[in-house]
Amino acid sequence: MTIFSSALNPQQHERAIEALKNEKFDLLVIGGGVNGAGIALDAASRGLTVALIEAHDLASGTSSRSSKLIHGGLRYLEQYDFKLVREALHERELMVKTLAPHLVKPVSFLYPLHEKVKDRTYIGAGLALYDALRGFKRALPNHKHMSQKTISEVAPSLRLDIVTGGIKYFDAQVDDARHTMMIARTAARHGAQIATRTSALSLLREGKRVIGAKVRLEESGDIIDVHAGVTVMAAGVWTDPLYDAMELKPGYRVRMSKGVHIVLPKEAIKAETGIILKTSVSVLFIIPWNNQWMVGTTDTDYTGDRNEPLSTAEDVQYIIDQANRVLDPKIRREDVIGVFAGLRPLVSTAPDAPTTKLSREHVVDHPAQGFVSIAGGKYTTYRVMSEDAVNAAVPDLRRLVPDSCTETLPLVGADGYSVLLNQLPLLSSKFNLSQDMLTHLINRYGSLMEDLLEMIRADRTLAEPISPESDVLKVEILYAVTHEGARSVSDVLTRRTRLSFELKDRGLSIARRVAELIAPTLRWSEENINASISEYEKIVDREIAELEANLKVAINS
Ligand SMILES: Cc1cc2nc3c(=O)[nH]c(=O)nc-3n(C[C@H](O)[C@H](O)[C@H](O)COP(=O)(O)OP(=O)(O)OC[C@H]3O[C@@H](n4cnc5c(N)ncnc54)[C@H](O)[C@@H]3O)c2cc1C
Repeated sequence: MTIFSSALNPQQHERAIEALKNEKFDLLVIGGGVNGAGIALDAASRGLTVALIEAHDLASGTSSRSSKLIHGGLRYLEQYDFKLVREALHERELMVKTLAPHLVKPVSFLYPLHEKVKDRTYIGAGLALYDALRGFKRALPNHKHMSQKTISEVAPSLRLDIVTGGIKYFDAQVDDARHTMMIARTAARHGAQIATRTSALSLLREGKRVIGAKVRLEESGDIIDVHAGVTVMAAGVWTDPLYDAMELKPGYRVRMSKGVHIVLPKEAIKAETGIILKTSVSVLFIIPWNNQWMVGTTDTDYTGDRNEPLSTAEDVQYIIDQANRVLDPKIRREDVIGVFAGLRPLVSTAPDAPTTKLSREHVVDHPAQGFVSIAGGKYTTYRVMSEDAVNAAVPDLRRLVPDSCTETLPLVGADGYSVLLNQLPLLSSKFNLSQDMLTHLINRYGSLMEDLLEMIRADRTLAEPISPESDVLKVEILYAVTHEGARSVSDVLTRRTRLSFELKDRGLSIARRVAELIAPTLRWSEENINASISEYEKIVDREIAELEANLKVAINS
C-alpha cells in the first residue's frame, strides 16, 4: 500500500488547495524551483507536514533555464572557492550514483589548450585538483591529457592551427526542469502538498511571529490564508520584491544576471565530447544535448522583468562569436534551432561588483520568528541548501525534529533503474517496443516507466512520436498531466518536454495536437483548449519579437 502518491494531477491539485485552506502545516514553502522542491522534500522526509506553493509552474523560474550541468564548477577553482567546488563535487557524485542515476548522467568536456607547456601544466594541475576534491566515492572517470592528433579525431571541428592539444574531464548533466519536477514528486510521495498556480502575497503575523501567508489561487483568483509553524521562502530572483511585500528587513539582496543559451543541430559541430572554452569574463560550454548541442552562456547584469527574461540578437551573436574562435567550420546564425534565457539569483554583498565576481555560495536568512529565506548557490547544491534552510527553520517549531535524510534518499524512479537497463531486451519483446524507445523512456522516467508502459498497453497510438522531428512520444505528453503536474500547453512544451527549444518552430505546429491530448485529463472545453494554445503562442511571439527587434537595430546601425 502507498500512503502518499507521487502523482501530480488535477485531483491532487484540488486536494492540495483544500489542505492549504483547512490545515496548519509545520512548513509552508514559497517557490517551486529546485530549492523550494528540495526544501519540501527535506522537510517531508523528516516527518514534518509540508505545503509548497508555486506562483506559476514547477521550475518555471531559473530552474528550467540553467546550463543543466551538475558540476563542481571548474572556474570557481580559479577564484580559490575550494569549499564550493568540493561540496558541489560531492553532490554530483551522490546524484549520479544514488539519488538520481536515471536523470543525472556523466558528460565529458574537452578543454582545448593553445600554448603547449604552460597551458598544459596550469590547466592539468587544476583538473587534477578538480578530480581530487571529490573525495573517494568516485562515480566518474579521471581527467585525461590528449595530443593534437587525438583532438583531430575526437573533435574534428576544433581549429588545429590554434589548438595544440587538450585535456578531457568529466562532469554530469540533467534536464533541470524535469529533475526539479521529480524532486517535487518525491516530496509528494513523502506527504508534501504541492500547489502550483498559487502565489504568496504577504505574511500572516501574530505579534512579531510569522504564522503563515496570504496567498492567491491564480486560477480562481481567490485569496486564502495558509497557516504554518514556519514559512520558508526559496523565491530565487523574486526574493527582493517579496521581502518588500512581506514588510521584512532582509539580511541580503539578490542581484540578477542574465544567461542565454542557443541550441544547434548535431551536424553544426563535429565532436564526440562537450567542449569548454575560457572567455574574457567567464567560460563558454558547448554541451551535448540529446541529438543536438546547447551552447552558452552569457553573463550580463539584468534589471528587467523577472517573469520574462528574453534573449536578444546581441546575446546570440556573442555566443556564436565566442564559439567560432575555435571552430571550423563556423556556426552560422541560421543554424540556431532554439534559444532560452535565465536569471542567476546572485546573493549580493558588494552592490557594485560585476556579477561574474559575485560569490555563488548561498545565504540563509532568519529575519523573524517563523520565517526563513534562502537564495544563491547553484542548482548542483540544492540538496545542501535545502537541508540548511530546514535546519534554520526547525528551532522555531519548538520540538525535536530528526536530522536530514536526503543524502540517502533516492528520487522517485531511481529505484531499480540499473535493473531496467539490464532487462532492455526482455522488455522490448514483452511490450513489442524498440530498445531505443525503451532506453529513451528509462533515461527520462527510470522505474516510473512502468506507468507509461501501462498507458501504451491500453492505447497503442500513445507509442507514436508527437512530432516527426522529435523522439518525444504522445504518451509522455499525456503523462505530463496525469502524473507530472503540467496544467497548460506551455508547461508541456517548455518544461515537461523541451520541445520549445528543441524544435525549430518552438512546437507551434504541434500545439493543438498537444492541447487535444491533454484536454480530457484537464477537463478542458474547446474554449480552454484555444486559450492555452493562444497563451503559448503569445509567449513565443514575444520571444521572437525581442530577437528580431534587436536584429533590426543591428542591421540599421
Ligand atoms: C544561465 C544560467 C545557467 C546556470 N547553469 C547552472 C549549471 O549548469 N549548474 C548549476 O549548478 N547551476 C546553474 N545555474 C544556477 C541555478 O540554475 C540556480 O541557482 C537555481 O536554479 C536557482 O533555483 P531556485 O529554486 O533558488 O530559484 P527558481 O528556480 O527561480 O525558483 C523560484 C521560484 O519561486 C517562484 N515564485 C516567485 N514568486 C513567488 C510567489 N510570490 N509565490 C510563490 N512562488 C513564487 C517562481 O515562480 C520560481 O519558480 C545557472 C543559472 C543560470 C541563470
